[in-house]
Amino acid sequence: MDNSCLFCRIVAGEIPATVVHRTETTIAFRDIDPKAPTHVLVIPVGHYADVVTLAAADPAAAADVLAAAAAVAEIEGLTGDGFRIIFNTGEYAGQEVFHVHAHVLGGAPLGPMLAGR
Ligand code: 5GP
Ligand code: ZN
Repeated sequence: MDNSCLFCRIVAGEIPATVVHRTETTIAFRDIDPKAPTHVLVIPVGHYADVVTLAAADPAAAADVLAAAAAVAEIEGLTGDGFRIIFNTGEYAGQEVFHVHAHVLGGAPLGPMLAGR
């Protein structure tokens, strides 16, 4: 655990979150500032800065995050109409929290993949 990391503190229960799904290796909770009617973040319990680091260091945990994101989409009723999974990675993508997380977004048409394109 990294004490300076917001999402490690959510894993530790030090910061409250609305958890919608949990496995031994992942936690999924609602984004505090949702960008769609459904906006859930899926994280590995282990601290990795981004998806590149996670995939290199622990491919099994990376697979667990994807499986959990798919489970969240099912639980939240997103699979019929479709949804989006995003891993913001680094500066150009605007990543703000450096504990890898999948954004699971849905519940309404999501518009173009990228703003202004
Ligand atoms: P990023 O820009 O790093 O891909 O996404 C970080 C996400 O974390 C943002 O969508 C932001 O709203 C969310 N977030 C930031 N702080 C908190 C928090 O304390 N709790 C929850 N549930 N989400 C947070
Ligand atoms: Zn962390």
